[in-house]
Amino acid sequence: MCIFCKIIEGEIPSNKVAENEEFFAFHDINPQAPIHVLVIPKQHVACFQDTPGELMAKMTPFIQEVAQKLGLDADGYRLITNNGEDGGQEVKHLHFHLLGGTQLKWDRQVADPKAENI
Ligand code: 5GP
Ligand code: ZN
Repeated sequence: MCIFCKIIEGEIPSNKVAENEEFFAFHDINPQAPIHVLVIPKQHVACFQDTPGELMAKMTPFIQEVAQKLGLDADGYRLITNNGEDGGQEVKHLHFHLLGGTQLKWDRQVADPKAENI
């Protein structure tokens, strides 16, 4: 069982923000912003690329509700999913990083020098 499946099962403790039958939201253990929450499906899906559209259709309103609950809907937030090796995905269970609580910087990280002008 993956680490996020264990969090859903309660085998690993987490600081829960919201939950329904299909989704779970909890605070990231290593926050990168004043508010940094992870939103995951209870169904184990490895990454965004493997995610059925129907699951995303249901996940969208849940993420919006979590943002509202955290008071992020008015001033804005950032929603990120890292996909696969090049995307920097460490935990292989689909998760969206919901970041906010301040005006976030946008740092472009260019690994490929040829891409610097993009
Ligand atoms: P990734 O790099 O896969 O997009 O992000 C994984 C995220 O999961 C990281 O931000 C990391 O801090 C978070 N994380 C990893 N293990 C745990 C854990 O056991 N509990 C919580 N709350 N967050 C975790
Ligand atoms: Zn899992």
